[in-house]
Amino acid sequence: MKIPVDEIPQSPKEIRFSENIEELNELYRRNTNPDFDFPPILAVDLIYYRSGADIFFNGNFRGEFTGYCGRCLENYSFTLDKAFAFVLSPEPAKSERGAEELHGAELGLSYYSTDEIELAPLMAEQVMLALPTRPLCGDDCRGLCAKCGVNLNRESCACSTESGDPRMAIFRTLKVGRK
Ligand SMILES: [Zn+2]
Ligand SMILES: [Zn+2]
Repeated sequence: MKIPVDEIPQSPKEIRFSENIEELNELYRRNTNPDFDFPPILAVDLIYYRSGADIFFNGNFRGEFTGYCGRCLENYSFTLDKAFAFVLSPEPAKSERGAEELHGAELGLSYYSTDEIELAPLMAEQVMLALPTRPLCGDDCRGLCAKCGVNLNRESCACSTESGDPRMAIFRTLKVGRK
């Protein structure tokens, strides 16, 4: 989706569109251990308007994702349905850059420098921000047995849990501590 800057009104305009974010998969698959598969198409509800030279965007996106659970190594599907908001400011002229750019980076501001706003990379960025830091099929995923490797969500094994992988001890402690 592209929006010509000079067609952006001062009163909020609402649109609904499908954004192609397939490029995220291409970027991501270069990773040897991808955590997620992205849907090719994201459904987006967007409201946008200008205030002075700044352009305000807010809305909501939805898509069906696949995650690769970091504990049990199975894949699982989930829907990501998230609200977002961001502002684009005109890129400062070269002469006044330096300070402005630092200031902008601190505030998390983004710039536009063309007469058309390309939404695909901006939506891809929102998706990356909205994804969980670690893929988990569920908060209660029991993972794999550190000794025999069975998926403890589906079967139990005869290995003693107490002498399990010491790296898992931290999870057991956390679970007890939470109660
Ligand atoms: Zn899992
Ligand atoms: Zn086992």
